[in-house]
Amino acid sequence: MDNFNYYFDNIHLLGIQGMNKKTIQSILERAQYFNQKKKNRKNKILKDSLVINLFFENSTRTKASFEIAAKSMSADILNISVSSSSIKKGETLIDTAATLNAMHPDFLILRHPNSGAAEMLSKHVECSIINAGDGRHEHPTQALLDAAVIKEEGINLEGLKIAICGDILNSRVARSNIYLLTTMGAQVSVIGPPTLIPKDIERMGVKVFFDLNSGLKSSDIIMILRLQNERMDGSETPSKREYYSFFGINENNLKLAKKNALVMHPGPMNRGVEIASLLADNNEISLVKKQVEMGVSVRIACLEMLKLSRNKLLK
Ligand code: ASP
Repeated sequence: MDNFNYYFDNIHLLGIQGMNKKTIQSILERAQYFNQKKKNRKNKILKDSLVINLFFENSTRTKASFEIAAKSMSADILNISVSSSSIKKGETLIDTAATLNAMHPDFLILRHPNSGAAEMLSKHVECSIINAGDGRHEHPTQALLDAAVIKEEGINLEGLKIAICGDILNSRVARSNIYLLTTMGAQVSVIGPPTLIPKDIERMGVKVFFDLNSGLKSSDIIMILRLQNERMDGSETPSKREYYSFFGINENNLKLAKKNALVMHPGPMNRGVEIASLLADNNEISLVKKQVEMGVSVRIACLEMLKLSRNKLLK
């Protein structure tokens, strides 16, 4: 196996904010390397390592993807089911983590509804924390896998025109992607109703559009986001049907974007709300399946990077 020059100086992966171009580039290339191997990617990088998946929010893709990644790297993996753990008896996140920490895991993969939960935990444990989504804040491996898919399509991130459409306000995927894409030199727009766009988002280096027509114009890629109802109080959007008529993406209004524009979606998709079913299933245009596939390779690359960085920094 080739050596991995990873340019990363931390034992935790908490977010994309502050990550430089060279580090991002190295992770993307490593993920593409593992992605080429697909079924043949079994290795011993995490032999004798213990990985714990601790998910306080629902997940299909991210949780399974980390588990498959860890297993393919020969790690032992433990999935903690929050619904049957002591968390239900009132234990705090820090106490739960301290208990798990005492079992000496090497990696704790955390998904939590509170923004900042992963960073807070990283100050209380010795193992490496990987943020698998913290509230509205960040979802670093999602942004990395999205970028790796774009690269894999032969598209340059530098100069790419990408529109992120939907519930930007409540989306950690939007935030991590904006950090990553702007760092890599892409031109990022966000499209959505005013109630779902954070007030000062221009400061993140993006253009804001409140209507689809002008927002989609000249975009190479549209990243479509779900309405994060679990983080809303009900006053942010009209009915689902009305939302679809203004912001739902289908094969027809996609023509407003560049010819051959592609669409992405982190999942789970709500068909007929933010994306038309026909478009979601059109594999010529939709990169959704490739995103899921690349998710495993990106997580292998991230686990490897953290393992190498732990070995170096904790020597
Ligand atoms: N799966 C992504 C997340 O956890 C996107 C979503 O849930 O809409 O943030």
